Amino acid sequence: MKISRRAAIGAGASAAVVAAAAGGVVLANREAPEPPAPPAIDAQGHLVWRNWSGIQHGYPQARIAPASEDELSHLLKTSPAPIRAVGAGHSFMPLVPTDGTLLTLDSLSGVTKVDGDIATIWAGTRLGELGPQLAKNGRAMANLPDINKQSLGGALGTATHGTGKHLPAIHADVTALRLATVDGQILECSAEKNAQIFDAARVSLGSLGIITQVQLKTSANKRVHRRVWLESFDEALSKAEARWNSHRNFEFYAVPFTGLVANITHDETDEPARPRGEETDSTFLDALKTLRNLLGFSNTLRKEAAELLLGSTPPEEAIDEGWKLLSTDRPVRFNEMEFHLPAEVQLKALREVVETIERERSDVFFPIEVRRIAPDDAWLSPFQGEPRGSVAVHAYYKDDYKFFFELIEPIFRKHGGRPHWGKLNALTGSDFAGLYPRWKDFAEMRRQLDPQGRLLNGYLRGIFGA
Ligand SMILES: Cc1cc2nc3c(=O)[nH]c(=O)nc-3n(C[C@H](O)[C@H](O)[C@H](O)COP(=O)(O)OP(=O)(O)OC[C@H]3O[C@@H](n4cnc5c(N)ncnc54)[C@H](O)[C@@H]3O)c2cc1C
Repeated sequence: MKISRRAAIGAGASAAVVAAAAGGVVLANREAPEPPAPPAIDAQGHLVWRNWSGIQHGYPQARIAPASEDELSHLLKTSPAPIRAVGAGHSFMPLVPTDGTLLTLDSLSGVTKVDGDIATIWAGTRLGELGPQLAKNGRAMANLPDINKQSLGGALGTATHGTGKHLPAIHADVTALRLATVDGQILECSAEKNAQIFDAARVSLGSLGIITQVQLKTSANKRVHRRVWLESFDEALSKAEARWNSHRNFEFYAVPFTGLVANITHDETDEPARPRGEETDSTFLDALKTLRNLLGFSNTLRKEAAELLLGSTPPEEAIDEGWKLLSTDRPVRFNEMEFHLPAEVQLKALREVVETIERERSDVFFPIEVRRIAPDDAWLSPFQGEPRGSVAVHAYYKDDYKFFFELIEPIFRKHGGRPHWGKLNALTGSDFAGLYPRWKDFAEMRRQLDPQGRLLNGYLRGIFGA
């Protein structure tokens, strides 16, 4: 989330405002210590691998970076198992950790062809590199997630999405892909060729094979007008459906303990560019953390100080090509749980989540993100069947996140939510079987493509019962 520096002032100034609001109460700082890091090297001398947030790690005995499909096919047959593909390591679930082989497609990166609206792209390409390469051809991804650090293969692996009632997740724009299997084959998959594998492989957690190349349906590269503004929680919720109906992209962040929401819209425009200013996400979060650290003992004082500090924040606007505005930097590390709920219960579930956090967890200060995603038909797409509304809860990387499982997941489950494949959840294979009509078909296809489970780490063995 991005709010201007004018508004979110800065941690030093926010501490002064907080102290003034406290009016003589002695303030204790509640900042948690840095979490302990795993050893850099294990007993066998293997270097540690960690995910972005730091909660997942492993000690792969081999690290490979094939520079061609031929090399990849050879390595898939000969490298020690489990062989786990890694993109940018931005997933929170234990999808990547392995003591076998860590496989990166960093050497298979870039756009190889643009033909009309279809671009052919190596799966190792980072979304942030894709933007300028497509723009050179007048094209753009139809939508983008919050950040653009992910690899294309990694983004597909977990059904990564942005926001927009009429905009599906990235995998829904894939029209064909090439899949390298553990027996050394390269399968061409599309609606016409290997159609069932195509439907399964578009979202497949790196468990069917390695996606080497993707044909992606792109859009014309247009400028969008970005607006960010604060509003009261109740007013924002009463207008949210109308905003999803009327804006190309709409999302909002509910800020617990403040009664405030930050709305973000993006709409196509022909107006001249007005690039956005410097990134201020960390300044805004610093202000919220200071409120938590110093006033976490009183919801009333914390809310009053938040109004003083943030209430009169002026809106922020920018105009630029979509690939420059739709994603932002998220420099402050966190852990996250996100569920995709039937659209009609999304806001009800959000209210319950906010009430629960404000009642039970005064240590939480990260905003809760709320988005809408159009449906598609990939077998493991959480968006299959009907439009889904996502609600995502974050915890600062130094803070406890176990409450996600104890307090928040039951709310999401009660409302029929499906978890984001890359974000924290405690669901088992039988839970997924109940949420995905094609779960058994997927598990059977996985068994046929990789009968010995060479691509499965412990987590994947668990959910696939392998
Ligand atoms: C700061 C931050 C912001 C985020 N914002 C969003 C957001 O807005 N929307 C959203 O939906 N998610 C979001 N995420 C989650 C993120 O998009 C997903 O976890 C995504 O999968 C990460 O991509 P990656 O390249 O890091 O993949 P990794 O986490 O490295 O891998 C993800 C999965 O893909 C598999 N994989 C990777 N490459 C291939 C390949 N070539 N072939 C087959 N399988 C492969 C891996 O084996 C693994 O199972 C965010 C995460 C962070 C940390």
